[in-house]
Amino acid sequence: MIAPGTWLGLLGGGQLGRMFTMAAQSMGYKVLVLDPGSNSPAGTVADAHLQAEYTDAKALTEIALRCSAATTEFENVPSESLQRLSEKCVVSPAASSVAVAQDRIREKLFLRDQGFATAPFAVIQSESDLHAREIDSLLPGVLKVSRFGYDGKGQIRVSSRDELRDAFHTLRGESCVLEKFLALHKELSVVVVRGFDDAVVTFPVAENQHAHGILDVSIAPARVASHVANEARQLAIDLANKLDYRGVLCVEYFVLDNGRLLVNEIAPRPHNSGHYSIDACVTSQFEQQVRVMCSLPLGDTSMHVAAAMLNLLGDLWANGEPRWERVLRNGGAKLHLYGKSEPRPGRKMGHVTVLSQQTDAALNGALQIKSALTADAGKSEPRSA
Ligand code: ADP
Ligand code: MG
Repeated sequence: MIAPGTWLGLLGGGQLGRMFTMAAQSMGYKVLVLDPGSNSPAGTVADAHLQAEYTDAKALTEIALRCSAATTEFENVPSESLQRLSEKCVVSPAASSVAVAQDRIREKLFLRDQGFATAPFAVIQSESDLHAREIDSLLPGVLKVSRFGYDGKGQIRVSSRDELRDAFHTLRGESCVLEKFLALHKELSVVVVRGFDDAVVTFPVAENQHAHGILDVSIAPARVASHVANEARQLAIDLANKLDYRGVLCVEYFVLDNGRLLVNEIAPRPHNSGHYSIDACVTSQFEQQVRVMCSLPLGDTSMHVAAAMLNLLGDLWANGEPRWERVLRNGGAKLHLYGKSEPRPGRKMGHVTVLSQQTDAALNGALQIKSALTADAGKSEPRSA
């Protein structure tokens, strides 16, 4: 066991890293953040910040020397950096797991090979792949870049072969996955945690609503039949075991009208849809990340209250700083701001989790806050994607 007082290394300085850092610090650990930016959400709260690239040999050596264990909050961290650190200190998740999750082609092939149902897809890596016969069965579809896509970026919807060719060119001929566009009944996610001792736990299922490809609202527990929730949790456990995963992993699902669950994608880190765990669960997803990397027993994931989480995007700053009293006059609302100074449209600036004994009341509270803040920003309600 790695005891409190020890230094922990973190690759990435975003909001997930900030919430990890706060969880680690509250348990008495010190956190060293590696991030190339000067004013990152995690870098500003960490005990020390190394401002360097993720591949910087000197910085990686310093982490290895100073820290007993290291983790990542950024799924596009070069897996070689994790590999290199693992020669000197405990690393979770492993480079091999991150390498699968950060590459959509590897991820999809892994899921298919291991027998997890996904949306029908084809790999598109060259002009000749555009002529494959199976393409017809995947239209209308969505073309997604294999690397570095997030929040719906690097995705183009296509309904004909001509549009597909244009989209492939727009994405500069990068390796892609073409997925059939499906009518989704719901989207769900499960955060699963697996320790070095093979202990594995899941958080309650979250129900996710996206707008413009970005998570908008997450509701927990998800309003689905208990057999669907149990299946989602079990699939997440199976996936973590199959990946031999150590750490916190999020599995995103599509639910079809017939109740069938498909795995959409996996993220090798805590997830936006698991933020509710900070305020509504006995143990947060970030505390679990600390527990795994330090070989502490995993915490209880039970919810003590229902929750609805609302993302606060930069759009809400259109008329200046949002009026936070709009949020806080709901006594069950917990405000989390990430300390980002530039509120760009679509940028995640913070989130609010509304707690209530009833899921629907929590959701209504979150939606009321959303309307008030959106109206203040002079925007109409975003369309649902
Ligand atoms: P990201 O890495 O940006 O989260 P996702 O593949 O999860 O990429 O896509 C973002 C969102 O776009 C999904 O949560 C879903 O709402 C929608 N989407 C993606 N793929 C499909 C699909 N095949 N059919 C229907 N909707 C989709
Ligand atoms: Mg996604």
